[in-house]
Amino acid sequence: MKQYDAIIIGGGPAGLTALLYLGRGMANTVLLEAGCVGGQMLITDAIENYPGFPGGIQAFTLTEQMEKQAREFGGAIETLEVASIENIDTPVKKVVCATGETFETKVLILTPGAKARDLGVAGEEHFKARGVSYCGTCDGAFFRDKTIAVVGGGDTAFDETVFLTRFAKKIYLVHRRKEFRAAPISIDRVRKMEKVEFVLDTVIDEIYGEQTVKGIRTRNTVSGTTGDIPLDGVFIFVGLDPVTGFLAKSGITMTQSGYIIVDRDMKTNFPGVYAAGDVIEKSERQIATAVGDAATAACQAIKYLDSLR
Ligand code: NAP
Repeated sequence: MKQYDAIIIGGGPAGLTALLYLGRGMANTVLLEAGCVGGQMLITDAIENYPGFPGGIQAFTLTEQMEKQAREFGGAIETLEVASIENIDTPVKKVVCATGETFETKVLILTPGAKARDLGVAGEEHFKARGVSYCGTCDGAFFRDKTIAVVGGGDTAFDETVFLTRFAKKIYLVHRRKEFRAAPISIDRVRKMEKVEFVLDTVIDEIYGEQTVKGIRTRNTVSGTTGDIPLDGVFIFVGLDPVTGFLAKSGITMTQSGYIIVDRDMKTNFPGVYAAGDVIEKSERQIATAVGDAATAACQAIKYLDSLR
């Protein structure tokens, strides 16, 4: 069984930052990631609010650079899905992967992030990948000169709407309220876009179609009026759910929604176990905050490892 000083679970900006810091701290570390590194950055186009890049930076480029820098200090990255954690309350914790492979570690840094939430309406499941999408950068090009809806009123919905205007000829931005969670600068930008029509105080009751999506049935939440918008695709950005299923039996303290509760040093309720990034209970989910959380977690982890010597 392979043994490490530290194991990081999840390869988004938080995980890559933790790998950089632990590598520089001379800790024998591996980062386990089920898919590609990058996390939520992989479903983003340009990033304008990460410092150091006037004019913004492509998310793919930032991911590449973060990974390269994280590897510079000897940290390893393995493509493995973690199934569960055992012995979390003991000095040597055991990480069990879906393949059956197991690892032992003194420190655990949990950075599994969060994934796009389903809208939960009729037709959504049926038309997934046949007109229903959760990623503009992945699927936007399939909707060149088409009419689409974007659902949601947060930063993701607005950022993705901006990106999708490259392809779609018309975008209905459907949101259940009149007020938005997105940053004012993004709202201003989208309001000025001729291709975008706001459909507010409105929910979708059904996504319908034949082989692919043909339209949505809507309902105004104030008047109760129902409507029908013919279109070719629906992009859903209604928030995130934390990826904490593998921690279900771990005893880690989480909120009812599954976000991990940490203190200001990113410590969980178990010694040697830290969490950082989108997976923790907090008010702001940004790349910059994920990176900051992870730097704190890794510095604390290095101190913890020193205390064991
Ligand atoms: P979010 O901020 O939680 O917004 C989700 C949106 O979906 C809200 O407008 C919400 O409506 C709506 N919604 C939720 N459930 C719904 C349902 N069942 N039916 C209809 N609408 C529903 O999620 P997000 O936009 O994915 O952002 C997640 C986090 O990442 C946020 O902290 C955000 O700031 C951050 N982020 C930042 C950037 C950036 O800085 N550029 C980019 C992307 C994400 P209500 O408002 O009515 O609840």
